[in-house]
Amino acid sequence: MAIDLSKLSQEMTVWRRDLHANPEFGFEEKRTSAFVAAKLREFGLDDVVEGVGGTGVVGTLKRGNGNRAIALRADMDALRINEQGSAEYRSRNPGIMHACGHDGHTAMLLGAAKGLAEGGGFDGTVRFIFQPAEEWGKGALAMLADGLMERFPFEEIYGLHNMPGLPVGHFQTKAGAIMSAEDNFEIVLHGVGGHAARPHWGNEVLVAACATVMNLQTIVARRLSPTDVGVVSVTELITDGTRNALPGLARILGDARSFRPEVSAKIEEEMRVIAEGTARSYNVSAEVLYTREFVPLLNDAALVDEALAAARDISDPSHVTTAKEPMTGSEDFARFLEHVPGCFAFIGNGEASAPLHNPNFDFNDDALIHGASFFTAIVRRRLLPSKG
Ligand SMILES: [Zn+2]
Ligand SMILES: [Zn+2]
Repeated sequence: MAIDLSKLSQEMTVWRRDLHANPEFGFEEKRTSAFVAAKLREFGLDDVVEGVGGTGVVGTLKRGNGNRAIALRADMDALRINEQGSAEYRSRNPGIMHACGHDGHTAMLLGAAKGLAEGGGFDGTVRFIFQPAEEWGKGALAMLADGLMERFPFEEIYGLHNMPGLPVGHFQTKAGAIMSAEDNFEIVLHGVGGHAARPHWGNEVLVAACATVMNLQTIVARRLSPTDVGVVSVTELITDGTRNALPGLARILGDARSFRPEVSAKIEEEMRVIAEGTARSYNVSAEVLYTREFVPLLNDAALVDEALAAARDISDPSHVTTAKEPMTGSEDFARFLEHVPGCFAFIGNGEASAPLHNPNFDFNDDALIHGASFFTAIVRRRLLPSKG
């Protein structure tokens, strides 16, 4: 029962453009999840459950009598970015757009569901997981907290993300850490503001804040092992000063990335030492708020081999490569990998693609059939029908 791939590609393009025109922010994916659930029911899945972890959807497809289950995951949320592209299917929701290609991820997983429902070729259970709110790093956790693993058990999980710059039809992944942890921090300095002409009468905080920002640069340069990877970026410095009044309050905000929990812990520890020590030397006080938003994404080595083999089943083998280095971006797919092994891989969005999170970004529809075929191939490989 071979499925007509060019027809499926055209259908996925229609779905993708419909989703692109109607983007929704994390946990607000009401139209999107209704769209997904309606399609899954139309394809004849055995079970379709909406409202898992807010706006998440889980579809289940069973064939044969195998008792193994694997999960395939797509994310559905868009970003608060004003689209600048001019396609006829550009965002109809001002200020919100699919700038990370989750419209494409959703469409290609729907394509895989349709292909597998019609074509079979596997023995066991496939869970199709459509998660909300990936961009915030909250959607996977919400589905897990809503009993995902107990209500829809599975033993391994696979996901794809498009990659600008990688040619269409190419796949890339690697064993171990492939995406970083993301931590957020806020350092609040308290002093005594006052007249700009008389700094010595108070303890203003702006110079202390600037010194803190400079000293934070020594965390990666001087306090992490040279063999460890970390990023500490200060992204905002806000004070309550005005042109002729020195501030008594400053907030330093930023973002830190790492690939090992020990490195994340070290960054936090050193940040506290620097913030408190620098503040003391300027006679002001500092408090540090440090939160962990995303955990590192750690691929299972054996399942990476299976994913690469599945990609070679459906593509030119020279288009399937092992990534040399992890990326300092974050993905909440990592949360599923805290429960079961799996593999997250990148699929080419073309060399001419705008970067992710850019107002001109657009998912490349030519990639859809490659993504759907990859998901289909991994299911047929991991839920191999018994010969008989
Ligand atoms: Zn994104
Ligand atoms: Zn994304």
